Amino acid sequence: MKKFFIIVFVLLVAHAFAQQTSYVNFIKANATLNLIPDSTLVEGNVSYEIKILKATDSIFLDAVNMKFNTVEIAKSDAVFGALSYLNIDNKIYFNYPFKKNESYVVRFNYSAKPKKAMYFLERENAPQVWTQGQGKYTSNWFPSIDDVNDKIIFNLSLVGDPEYKLLSNGAITERIELPNGSVKTSYKMKKPMPSYLLALVYGKYNKETKTSKSGIPLEYYYYPEDSLKVEPTYRYSKQMFDFLEEEIGFAFPWQNYKQVPVHDFLYAGMENTSLTIFSDAYVVDSIGFNDKNYVNVNAHELAHQWFGDLVTAKSSEHHWLQEGFATYYALLAERDIFGENYFNFKLLESIIDLSHQELSGEGTSLLDTKASSLTFYQRGAWVLHILRGVVGDRVFKQAVKNYLEKHQFGNVETSDFIKEVERLYGKSLTSFVNYWIKNKSFPYEKAYEVLRKESEFINEYAMVDCEAKTSKCADYLKYYVSDEAKAKVISQVPDLVTLGTFKNGIKVRQAISQYVTKIPENLKTDYESLLDDQSYITIEKALYNLWNNFPLERSKYLAKTRGISGFSDKNVRLLWIVLNLNTAYYQTDDKQKLFNELVDYTGEAYNVDLRMNAFQYLYLMKSCNEECEANLEKAKSHYNWRMVKFAKELSNKLEENKK
Ligand SMILES: [Zn+2]
Repeated sequence: MKKFFIIVFVLLVAHAFAQQTSYVNFIKANATLNLIPDSTLVEGNVSYEIKILKATDSIFLDAVNMKFNTVEIAKSDAVFGALSYLNIDNKIYFNYPFKKNESYVVRFNYSAKPKKAMYFLERENAPQVWTQGQGKYTSNWFPSIDDVNDKIIFNLSLVGDPEYKLLSNGAITERIELPNGSVKTSYKMKKPMPSYLLALVYGKYNKETKTSKSGIPLEYYYYPEDSLKVEPTYRYSKQMFDFLEEEIGFAFPWQNYKQVPVHDFLYAGMENTSLTIFSDAYVVDSIGFNDKNYVNVNAHELAHQWFGDLVTAKSSEHHWLQEGFATYYALLAERDIFGENYFNFKLLESIIDLSHQELSGEGTSLLDTKASSLTFYQRGAWVLHILRGVVGDRVFKQAVKNYLEKHQFGNVETSDFIKEVERLYGKSLTSFVNYWIKNKSFPYEKAYEVLRKESEFINEYAMVDCEAKTSKCADYLKYYVSDEAKAKVISQVPDLVTLGTFKNGIKVRQAISQYVTKIPENLKTDYESLLDDQSYITIEKALYNLWNNFPLERSKYLAKTRGISGFSDKNVRLLWIVLNLNTAYYQTDDKQKLFNELVDYTGEAYNVDLRMNAFQYLYLMKSCNEECEANLEKAKSHYNWRMVKFAKELSNKLEENKK
């Protein structure tokens, strides 16, 4: 029996490696899912409509650690009958004499307790569930196909508590109350997509809806307590949407566009088709907007709705067709808002990062499947910027449009795009492709040269260099050079800051708070005014430096910044507590209570960034007590890898110190 089992297994595995897309087409999945947050369980009944392209006696779906029952099959418009199946090796095989050109419906019930790709958590004492398919495999929570080349129309119906929002890809077709008091929300898609873009979110949200110029509903979700943060968080969303539709020249391909923040997300954002999920660390108030806003991530995920979702790279070799395009089009959208200089400065920053990568010998071809994110994203964007310069705006835009039209809802590789450009350009791009795309090293000096030629602003920034100690540097701060250039001078020679320097804008003042750490007496009053700036970064740095430089005035600084929380990681509040605890004569607060608050922030109820911040301060104060250590231990098994990495490293340091 055992031996036989092994033989079957080997045969099945061999079968699995043949391209399943060549003999079966999974056309549509209709499913009703029941989420049970208390037991981190998902249950569903699913029916797949399939068309057989080549006769076969077995087809499969990827299904990680799932239980199945009532597995049935019907030929189109016939009666369902039991279907023999084998659930093995994280797949379910359906065995049946499938005939060429026949259509069938396969249906089944399943349940799963996903270890990844679907996350059940608590936020503000309420459950929240969200998914992440890319890099984690949707087949952990929904029986589907891990191959990005198999595009399916997914229609999910979600059952849950009526107090909660249930979000998925596509548009809502009905919302009905069930006899048991729960609600079923049904979504339908019109067009197919790969399963890694299938998503759902379950949680307490309100929403605000706008409409794009072209009539697409834009839904902005937010936590009920965050109504004042909706405007700064989603600022420019509609402008960027309208801009990208126009710039790309291909109408937004989906029925609507929903964006929803989730707690402790694994990345900045994820471009699930018509349902972008992003980290709630980007939910900001109007001050936070100045330091750390969602604009770039917002534009990036939106651009993916075309580049990635509409046309999908066939394999990871062509990953830049997603990330390079999303990065480049996000930059174009930001240029539309913040102007040419901003755009060029971002391009400069990416040259600097890419040059560091080159110099450390870690650069790779853009088509290397093991390339870094920096290569896929920034080098990819640079390739498009250079290409556009070579072939001209008109050819570039038309070629992108043709490429999307020709390959819409399909899969692509690099040559598909290049061919479209060459056709309109009328010349071969082989040497361009070799030099900018295939070449192992990124020609960053060439890129820099191009950028300096294109931009006066960058040219000036390059010339303003005080590392060589030129006598001009003091003048740069007095006369007109850009704020970016002034910030550069301050970072290089902070001693040059005078009273006049404080009269500059927010970026220059931020540089002062960052680099002028020894505050001369004559700058004291102006330095204190940094505490009123509309920037939580500036406030945090200035508070620390003032507290440090003027010990006798600590009470004044603490009183002034009392009640400022900062970003979602409470950067200002945490520093304030720590400084307060270290100001013995300042007795306005119950110190024990403040210390308890700090320790409390290491607990599971808070977001990852806040917890890491709190752990770090307690470590620095050598005060990680029993509760803090217990929370650190628990943090080691968090689903978020950043938390885990941090907790393990800090835990090792604590051990070291005990020795
Ligand atoms: Zn991306």
